[in-house]
Amino acid sequence: MKLAALGEVMVELAPQASEKGAQSGGAGRPLLAQSYAGDTYNTAVYIARGGVDVSYVTLLGDDPYSEEVLTRLAGEGIDTSAIVRLPGRCPGLYMIQNTADGERYFTYWRGEAPARELFTDVDRREQLKAHLRQMDCLYLSGITLAIMTSEARAELLAFLGEYRANGGRVAFDSNYRPRLWRSVEAARTAVAEFMAVTDMALLTFEDEQALWGDTDTEQCVQRNTAAGVAELVIKRGAEPVLLQYRSERSEVEVPAVSSVLDTTGAGDSFNAGYLAARLQGASPEQSIVAGNRCAARVIGHRGAIIPRADYFSASAA
Ligand code: ADP
Repeated sequence: MKLAALGEVMVELAPQASEKGAQSGGAGRPLLAQSYAGDTYNTAVYIARGGVDVSYVTLLGDDPYSEEVLTRLAGEGIDTSAIVRLPGRCPGLYMIQNTADGERYFTYWRGEAPARELFTDVDRREQLKAHLRQMDCLYLSGITLAIMTSEARAELLAFLGEYRANGGRVAFDSNYRPRLWRSVEAARTAVAEFMAVTDMALLTFEDEQALWGDTDTEQCVQRNTAAGVAELVIKRGAEPVLLQYRSERSEVEVPAVSSVLDTTGAGDSFNAGYLAARLQGASPEQSIVAGNRCAARVIGHRGAIIPRADYFSASAA
């Protein structure tokens, strides 16, 4: 089984954490820790750790940070052969701020990120399609769609139709980020189009509420099953995960996590646990259990990508 994840990875600057909270860099400024993250990138890393062959698909620059992303992907055993490098460019950047009320505030510099050119260039697109046709499953998110041009999105949509007709499976997480879209209507239109070519929808109810105004999960189930999604998983934080698989409905409890340190990447790692299990033959219910287990390891540590040693020692526990 081989999966390709499509999207954007960014440079992350986050307040360096210590036991007492953020460390000060003097003059009231926090010391910042630099790493790399992005929803589909996070998922790709954990799917690879789950034992499935993964290819990450994006565009990067030719700067040292892009170089480091490739090194990290290779260190996870992820195929980087479909990653295009644009000369003179560098990846997008975001900073996390701890606000006074204990929340985290994100600021992005990603308008000129190379990943925005995914599926735009005709020659590169044909090469990429040939690569994607070799995959058993493609994974993308609402963020992947949001950063693409509308023309590129239409090209990808048409390709996914052909890809599925030839037996490929598509997994999608709506991951709604209002700031990335021109309007909520634009986001709804794009997400609805892609839901129609999705086999496995791994959604977070909060995002669905923000995007569609759902007041209960029934509306979410109805809309997505009407769109033709055969395998629908709805994450709700610590609340049971909902599954609508073909005509069967079920709920899977989320085991309590004793010390939730940082829920960044919870949904992304859940998706990875789910897809890694599912692609290796587990049932949807068993895959939800695997998704919960993967998310539990990640939220017990700080950061979206936890070190390999911590990840594998947590899984042995
Ligand atoms: P997102 O990160 O997209 O907001 P959720 O908050 O719904 O996603 O969480 C995704 C998954 O992470 C859940 O289905 C569950 O497996 C795990 N999770 C999140 N919060 C908790 C929590 N407080 N306790 C245990 N598991 C959690």
